Amino acid sequence: MKKKETARCAFCGREVSVEQLFQGTDGRFICFDCVENAHQILLTEGYISATENNGNPKTKKDAARAGISTKLDMKSLPRPTQIKAFLDQYVIGQDDAKKHLSVAVYNHYKRLLQPDTNDGVEIEKSNIILVGSTGTGKTLMARTIAKMLAVPFTIVDATVLTEAGYVGEDVESLLVRLLEEADYDLEKTERGIVFIDEIDKIARKSDNPSITRDVSGEGVQQALLKLLEGAVVNVPPKGGRKHPEQEFIHVNTQNILFICGGAFDGIEKKIAQRLNTQVVGFESQNKTKRIDKQNMLQYIAPQDLKSFGLIPEIIGRLPIITYLEPLDRAALKRILTDPKNAITKQYQKLMKMDGISLTFADEALDYIVDKALEFKLGARGLRSLTETIMMDIMYDIPQKDCVITREMAEEKLARIDANRLVA
Ligand code: ADP
Repeated sequence: MKKKETARCAFCGREVSVEQLFQGTDGRFICFDCVENAHQILLTEGYISATENNGNPKTKKDAARAGISTKLDMKSLPRPTQIKAFLDQYVIGQDDAKKHLSVAVYNHYKRLLQPDTNDGVEIEKSNIILVGSTGTGKTLMARTIAKMLAVPFTIVDATVLTEAGYVGEDVESLLVRLLEEADYDLEKTERGIVFIDEIDKIARKSDNPSITRDVSGEGVQQALLKLLEGAVVNVPPKGGRKHPEQEFIHVNTQNILFICGGAFDGIEKKIAQRLNTQVVGFESQNKTKRIDKQNMLQYIAPQDLKSFGLIPEIIGRLPIITYLEPLDRAALKRILTDPKNAITKQYQKLMKMDGISLTFADEALDYIVDKALEFKLGARGLRSLTETIMMDIMYDIPQKDCVITREMAEEKLARIDANRLVA
């Protein structure tokens, strides 16, 4: 047998096959693993962006340039720590959710790559449910993960879904969108990610199975269940009903990852009730004291979702539950400046194109955060508040470099109508 030629990586010192090495002009080598590690560091530190084409690498070349694999294999699959590091660049805080999501996504794609062994062990799907108030980053997180993996991604609002035949969108319609995102590439579609927002809005109104049928709630849950369970769904191709002659596309949802999100307003009470009965029944007094009443969501469990009105079958298909924390003052301020595409960075970029350097005074940022809290707009309000402050400046284009002071921010926001701000 011919011996494989090897050489030593000048970085990590490992002896590697020459096919796995790059040679530099000085004749020394670097191995693929070291290149990959260096690449991840550049990504994590923000020196390079993994997002080309508005965050959607469309071609293999784009994706390769951005360091993302269009072909999923164990080698290119980012590890949970890498997924979290990527999320950290865009999403502030929410460590628990990020960790759960990173592991769930990693396991999901491992499941797709699981070797065909006859050991009877079959890795099950790990759909996820994110519970947290609106504007805390649920959608952002799901979108960011899809961006990293370069898989098709679509968001659907559960409230527009109805049972087939009712006015509204059929559950199948969300697969049409995913197909569109994948440019009608079925294989890509079938390993995409669907984010179902406001899943709490299709909860049954009461915990008792209702006597009269609850069309908006339980029926839609049943329809959704079909998708979550992994069914082959017949999806009308482009244009739907307009082209009845076209054949249905059979989309298998088995490998589509579903991430559900919802605010579940008032679920804290259900959690508290459960914890109280548990504590009184089985635990000692001490346990009660340790419950952090300010953040009840951290104790969320499947039975709370049931008490809220999700049917057990749906809950069973969403085995990973995690929560998002309310964003406090410090988190909101960081959202203004820290994420890779932070709002202030976007305005700075816009002004830079006019040759103007733009700075936000710290006190101005505090003021924007105060207003967002005052108007109860959360993170969503930050953009419209900043936009309001920036409007005249962007219109007039200053002659020289510009500093947004607190006084300027106060003046611009003095007569603002909170109702006109997009939340
Ligand atoms: P949700 O889905 O929880 O209702 P979104 O993810 O749509 O909220 O958040 C709305 C916007 O607020 C995002 O586009 C982003 O600009 C900002 N935002 C919310 N939470 C965060 C966060 N944790 N980190 C960074 N930005 C955030």
